[in-house]
Amino acid sequence: MRMKCRVQQLENGGMRITCGPVRQSACQVAGCDEDHVALCDYRAGDGKTCDKQICGAHRTRVGANIDYCPDHRDQIGINAK
Ligand SMILES: [Zn+2]
Ligand SMILES: [Zn+2]
Repeated sequence: MRMKCRVQQLENGGMRITCGPVRQSACQVAGCDEDHVALCDYRAGDGKTCDKQICGAHRTRVGANIDYCPDHRDQIGINAK
């Protein structure tokens, strides 16, 4: 099973690092534990896509069946709302 550590920014300014098995269905945006509903379709080169798992709140539809994660949405300058 794949293991992953995630760093979470706490409201008091501290950091929490959690390591454990990857929940396959979880959104991969830092600090988000929602189930993912889409994969980022941003073209990362070499014919690959970003494939980040994103939940309904973090996905941005940029076309029919094309969704971007927040990082790539920012990168191409699409406004979420
Ligand atoms: Zn999310
Ligand atoms: Zn992405």
